[in-house]
Amino acid sequence: MNLSLRHRLTIWYGAIVALTLLAFGVISYISVSSELRHNLDASLERVGYSLEDIIKTNQAQTKKPLRPAKTEQRVKQDQFSFLRENQKMNFYGPPRPIDSTAEKEQDMVWAAVYQHIIFNSKNFYIQVADTTNQIVFRSSNLTSINDSLPMISAPSYLAFEKAEGASHGFAPYVFKNQNLRLMLMQTKSAQISIGYPVDEIEATLGGLFGTLLVAYPFILIISLLGGHFLAKQSLQPIDDIARIAREITASNLSRRLPPTPVNDDEIARLTATLNQMIGRLEASFAQIRQFTADASHELRTPLAILMGELEIALRSRKTPDEYARVLNSSLEEVNRLSNVVSSLLELSKAESGQVQMQLEQVELSPLVMDICEDMEILAAEKNIELQCEIEPDVDIPGDEQRLHQVFLNVIENAVKYTLPGGSVYVKVFKNDTEAIVTVSDTGIGIPDEDLPYVFDRFYRVDKSRTSMNIPGNGLGLSIVKWIVEAHRGIITVESQYKKGSVFTMKFPLKTPENI
Ligand code: ADP
Repeated sequence: MNLSLRHRLTIWYGAIVALTLLAFGVISYISVSSELRHNLDASLERVGYSLEDIIKTNQAQTKKPLRPAKTEQRVKQDQFSFLRENQKMNFYGPPRPIDSTAEKEQDMVWAAVYQHIIFNSKNFYIQVADTTNQIVFRSSNLTSINDSLPMISAPSYLAFEKAEGASHGFAPYVFKNQNLRLMLMQTKSAQISIGYPVDEIEATLGGLFGTLLVAYPFILIISLLGGHFLAKQSLQPIDDIARIAREITASNLSRRLPPTPVNDDEIARLTATLNQMIGRLEASFAQIRQFTADASHELRTPLAILMGELEIALRSRKTPDEYARVLNSSLEEVNRLSNVVSSLLELSKAESGQVQMQLEQVELSPLVMDICEDMEILAAEKNIELQCEIEPDVDIPGDEQRLHQVFLNVIENAVKYTLPGGSVYVKVFKNDTEAIVTVSDTGIGIPDEDLPYVFDRFYRVDKSRTSMNIPGNGLGLSIVKWIVEAHRGIITVESQYKKGSVFTMKFPLKTPENI
């Protein structure tokens, strides 16, 4: 399925929102449910402790010999008097005689405080039994004498949760088809059983579940629509860039993508990168155009000379000597043409990576010495002093034939661009990591403004050419630079116009990987 980035982003966004919502829903449900259950247990405990307090207080009151005439039997009977007093409707024990007005008043005050908590609750099921399992109190919702809750002395048939050493514990209990949360508590003199229907909790949780269920698809749809809108908004600039980029062709490479409203976001960076790329393409195209123009010019000149010579030769009958002169001159032009064409071919092969270097350990010292010896004849003809100072055992990994081409070209240039009476100095030496060859001359030098371009194809410093009419096609140093760099070396030039130039070539001594 080929979905657009916009749709994929929307789907991802929707999926993430859906999962987040689901996780949120589940976590909320679980935490609300556990909080409600915890609160219920806490309420049961609070009621239990209140009851315990009531009983304790009542015991204290009844144990105080208010009337010295009272017997022990009488005190014991009154332990749960407060409960009995307030139970009214549901007390099934023997009625307690009221002794005095003071006692009655006190009972009534306590009753007023706790009545609401214990006796008026419709939902709490409360039962108090004494230590002999005799039920002494039932809340109003335990209507019949047979309605009794389990006691802590016999909870064995319940799934009873009681912490080690605690006075009370909890258990689920079904009472008259109602699910209760039951707390069983043991006090000094009583067994308290308190139940509360869990239906309320379930109803609350059901309500929460329903709300989540309704809200879930609603929020999901809103977030999907939002996601789609956001994806559309964020990808719109990319669509615009693609549309404009499609309109840029080789004929209008000067055109650029318009700047984005935000200066430093991803789209701005993409626009800047694409603009830089178009800039590089424009420069490359310009270079190719320049190269084609230079190459045509370089080829057209010898061709025009050749054509002129041949036309003159054909115009009238010539002596054999005259024909020989024309042929010699034509051959010179053909040689020039052939040099340009083979240099161009070599450069284009080099650029397309078709040239294989024959790697071996090359001894630079004898190689440069041989070139020096050959060049001495040419130098002597021009009355130029050629000095070579060559350290022995300077070996580098490389292609001997190509390196020969490099040094010959640079030394030949030095002789070519030095006036008679000048001198050329060649030096070969090494340091710990590299072999260094320098070729210095006291020649015509290169003006500062031309210096950066001498390694460019077809670049010739005009002044040197016109004033001295030195032959050349401006390709030699381009090839030299390519060969040096293919050996992981570097070539640099320093020059002072009309004083001389120094070409320095440095090559690594160790075998570099993947030359
Ligand atoms: P060419 O065939 O013209 O010599 P190169 O690529 O070898 O082409 O050199 C490019 C240009 O650099 C030359 O035309 C010349 O102007 C300049 N040049 C090269 N070597 C020297 C030198 N030793 N002294 C002065 N100018 C030089």
